[in-house]
Amino acid sequence: MPLLHRLAGALAGLSALAALSAPAQAQTYPARPITMIVPFAAGGPTDIVARIVADHMSKTLGQQIVIENVVGAGGTTGATRAMRAKPDGYTVIMGHMGTHAAAVALYPKLAYHPLNNFETVGLAAGTPVLIVAKKDFPAKDLKEFVAYVKANADKVNAAHAGVGSVSFTSCLLLNSVLGVKPTAIPFQGTGPALNALLGGQVDYMCDQIVNLVPQIKAGNIKAFGIGTPDRNPALPDVPTTKEAGLPEFEVSAWNAIFAPKGTPKEALDKLSDALSKALDDEGVRKRLADLGSDIPGPDRRGQAALNKLVESEIARWTPVIKASGITQ
Ligand code: ASP
Repeated sequence: MPLLHRLAGALAGLSALAALSAPAQAQTYPARPITMIVPFAAGGPTDIVARIVADHMSKTLGQQIVIENVVGAGGTTGATRAMRAKPDGYTVIMGHMGTHAAAVALYPKLAYHPLNNFETVGLAAGTPVLIVAKKDFPAKDLKEFVAYVKANADKVNAAHAGVGSVSFTSCLLLNSVLGVKPTAIPFQGTGPALNALLGGQVDYMCDQIVNLVPQIKAGNIKAFGIGTPDRNPALPDVPTTKEAGLPEFEVSAWNAIFAPKGTPKEALDKLSDALSKALDDEGVRKRLADLGSDIPGPDRRGQAALNKLVESEIARWTPVIKASGITQ
């Protein structure tokens, strides 16, 4: 057979193969590892929740989920990166109440809108927020803490994970309830902020429970109140802010998975299903519950429920932030 004919034959064979494998590939999502962006430093709450659920989701999906910490600007740097990623199901983000709700009002020029530029995958964890302070903070309960901060507002400082983060936004609420404006010290996540609190370099912070339980139990930091209606089983000795005399401080945050707008429905459904399976797994549930997380039940899971949550959280935080007069 002349060379040209043989070549043409081989090419035809190749394209037939390609045609065959195209639909097969679409059916086999995910065919390679998935990147999950964590928009804060390693070791903090968002990172902890991401690693716990991603570990189990990897097993269900048959592909590794690789965590990538992309820090900066209260989580909005990582969220912007995720928004701009190719919407092919291979990049997702573990967002939270800050990146995908509070940031909208804090940054009038935010590069993304949580609902218009993302697809929702599902809520991963409810994370109550606590007011915590360094071990030798001169107060033994929330009332004393409030009195001390009011009297020493020019001396105390509060740690946070950047403008737009949960810690920033919830302490913004606390400060506005107390009528104080203490010095705010930014970190790239509340993992490093907690280290500064442990080292006594900062005085207090408002943070998600999953970052705090072991250090509170060990007595390495003080917990003055939890901003939920009920006490948390992981920290039964910590009073609610209502019990402790500050009912206006009611805050619970959350972490949830999002994908760039336009991610195929098949990929979103597989991711949502894998997340839900992770939340049903006894090992995952124990790890999250031991850290005080409120594990979403079936009615709070999935894409539609997360859409509703994001809508209501944007509506909830916008007036609080506008009233504070803080925007970037
Ligand atoms: N909990 C942090 C926040 O304040 C972020 C983190 O490190 O996960 O938003």
